[in-house]
Amino acid sequence: MDTKILKGIDVSLKVKKDLSVIIKKLALKDVIPSLAAIIVGDDPASKLYVSSKAKAFSKLSCHSEVFSLPSDTTKQNLIKFIEDLNDNPKFHGILLQLPLPKHLNEKEILKTIAPNKDVDGLHPENQGYIMQGDPQFISCTPYGCIKILEYYNINTNGKDVVVIGRSNLVGKPIASLLSQNFNYGNATVTICHTKTKDLNFYTRNADIIIAAVGVPNLINKNMIKNGAHIIDVGINRIDDNTKDKGYKVVGDVDFDDVLGKASSITPVPGGVGVMTVTMLLSNTVQAAIKQAKII
Ligand code: NAP
Repeated sequence: MDTKILKGIDVSLKVKKDLSVIIKKLALKDVIPSLAAIIVGDDPASKLYVSSKAKAFSKLSCHSEVFSLPSDTTKQNLIKFIEDLNDNPKFHGILLQLPLPKHLNEKEILKTIAPNKDVDGLHPENQGYIMQGDPQFISCTPYGCIKILEYYNINTNGKDVVVIGRSNLVGKPIASLLSQNFNYGNATVTICHTKTKDLNFYTRNADIIIAAVGVPNLINKNMIKNGAHIIDVGINRIDDNTKDKGYKVVGDVDFDDVLGKASSITPVPGGVGVMTVTMLLSNTVQAAIKQAKII
């Protein structure tokens, strides 16, 4: 079987093309979708993520500003900073880059972002809306996964889906979205995690596997059924002396191993990761529309 490669870039281009029409309409009303990205501390990976997000915004004539706070920022100061952004009409969306330094409780801080500016979809109110079948802001990675399924016409209705991973960021929202009565939903969803007794049993019976684990090459061809569709969310660095950097990035699925047995798979890199930034842009445009009360 030929395994179709589900390229994130193709989906991203389509989403961005649609967004650019809306962004132009907003510009005519002097509304430029604007994001405030907060980064606390000096984590190089976080800095890289934030700068790639900022680049994507400027390419589509949207605005983004990065606010870098020192790693010893107190909880009170960070909350005050977020509250000021909540009240600042210049910004339609607020992104708090995770992880935060250890002394700051992520859940506690995320709750202080105004839900109507929570373009990362991590506020409990927005996660609750998803559970109720009335999504407002969907966190960007699960949203990107749905867009990939939609773009490549991978029907989820009545299918058996296994989601591996149960984080608030990825596993739980994607499982919730796919199990509801939505166009790209209506699946029978099983969520697996570290306490799952026999992961193989579930993955071998799945029509669609969503892997959001963080374990390199956890899933191989013996763990999937013929013709399965695979969305690999994992981003893992493994040593590779043939690369200048000394490492390469791989997913949670052994890509080469499943080729020929899976119907389709997202590559890593080049799959879901591309979509995460694109859906941040999309959520920020939606936030701008709602706040400006236009279109
Ligand atoms: P996380 O919060 O660490 O959650 C990982 C989940 O995987 C947990 O629920 C954990 O189970 C489960 N798990 C770990 N090892 C397992 C195993 N051997 N068998 C079954 N389940 C296992 O991670 P996350 O934030 O959801 O991210 C998951 C992966 O996606 C990471 O590689 C991350 O880098 C990547 N990611 C990619 C993007 C993107 O844009 N492509 C965005 C976000 C995250 P327990 O709950 O039992 O611990």
